[in-house]
Amino acid sequence: MKGYGRGPDGELSELALSIVPGEVFEVSEKFKIETELIHGGVDADVSGAATAVPIVQSSAFAYQSAESLENVFAGREAGFVYTRLGNPTLMALERRMAVLEGGIGSVACSSGMAAVNTVAAALTGAGDEIVSSSSVFGGTYSLFSRVLKRQGVKTSFVNATDPDAYKAAITDKTKMIFVETIGNPRMDVPGIRGIADVAHEAGVALVVDNTLTTPVMLRPAELGASIVVHSLSKYVNGHGNTIGGVIVDAGTMDWSNGRYAHIDETMGRAGQMALLAYLRTQVHRDMGCCLAPFNAFLLLMGVESLAVRIERQCFNAAAAAARLGDLVDAGAIRYPGLEEHPDHETARDQFGGLFGGLLTFRAGSRDRAFAFINKLKCIRNLVNLGDARTLAVHPASTFCRDLSDEERLAMGVTDDLVRLSFGLEHIDDIWNDLEQALKE
Ligand SMILES: *Cc1c(COP(=O)(O)O)cnc(C)c1O
Repeated sequence: MKGYGRGPDGELSELALSIVPGEVFEVSEKFKIETELIHGGVDADVSGAATAVPIVQSSAFAYQSAESLENVFAGREAGFVYTRLGNPTLMALERRMAVLEGGIGSVACSSGMAAVNTVAAALTGAGDEIVSSSSVFGGTYSLFSRVLKRQGVKTSFVNATDPDAYKAAITDKTKMIFVETIGNPRMDVPGIRGIADVAHEAGVALVVDNTLTTPVMLRPAELGASIVVHSLSKYVNGHGNTIGGVIVDAGTMDWSNGRYAHIDETMGRAGQMALLAYLRTQVHRDMGCCLAPFNAFLLLMGVESLAVRIERQCFNAAAAAARLGDLVDAGAIRYPGLEEHPDHETARDQFGGLFGGLLTFRAGSRDRAFAFINKLKCIRNLVNLGDARTLAVHPASTFCRDLSDEERLAMGVTDDLVRLSFGLEHIDDIWNDLEQALKE
């Protein structure tokens, strides 16, 4: 697979060979995901003999002669130029995420929101439309409904789990369908394949935010997603020590289908690599939401243990969900692993027998939710998720505070709602903490 992009001076070139991952390494199909987490995409040409990927903490890259730097700028030679455009440590993370998601390449971003914003900027412009699940991360909801709206991009929010609702909302201006794999905090689980069928039929790119499930539970590209985005700040990092994001291109979208003239006209010659080339040499380069090499290093360290962490986190969440009905109204517990959950079967089919590390419950009132959080001893009260520590948060007063009452209710955020993100501690200790904090 060969890729082409534009050099920094706009020349169509093979510059992207070094900085657009995908064509410079073989995507191996020979390893299971647990192994790819540790080895995928990174070999001697990235790390030399070092087993940990070196942190190349350099803004720019020097060349032996004026001619070679000119060649790189003209796109006649491949090479790193400036860390906003590409960097060896970032490339290692980009290759690994591309392998894990079964994509042809990826672009690392400074945060999950940077990834969502950058992909939206690549696909849409003033006058265009997005069709989004209404069950999305608060920042994404606010980006679509406020920031992008002001820039002239309209978003229709639809019932996350109903493919017909996505279909009905598509117009000839729709450039992106956006969905998350588990709604947070609503905990609904859209069937990705059904939505992908709708997207394919209309020729619209389907962007799936796989943050909550990670490639350990789900590879959206296998179910028809065109692009996969992540907040790497959560499970992939796993230790609450950096934020980061990534855009992975599945390589399956036909950018010449008439809907994406802005990509096709500038990058059409790159074929399958057109979006990556467009991101790398225009949108991502110009928006500047690049990840720091040191943060990429932390993410590469975190991702190695992702599979064992996710398994433990899902186990802890499922164990607590099964018993929590002893302490709170059983009908007020939302966890896709519970048989009563309306999307239980979708989750079972899609997530390989795991059901995620998050659950929500209703404490009965805002006061009781606060009292519960205040009594916790080992569980931490903060807005992150996917951390090694078990975390509790009251969404209505924190990350959903900005939303109107109607918007909050539409997202399933009642005033008494508590969200728990299960960590790696022993379930007995987590349970004892929950029990003492919920007992009157
Ligand atoms: C946290 C999160 C984001 C935003 O990621 P940041 O790294 O915090 O910017 C986007 N989507 C989902 C599903 C998230 O959980």
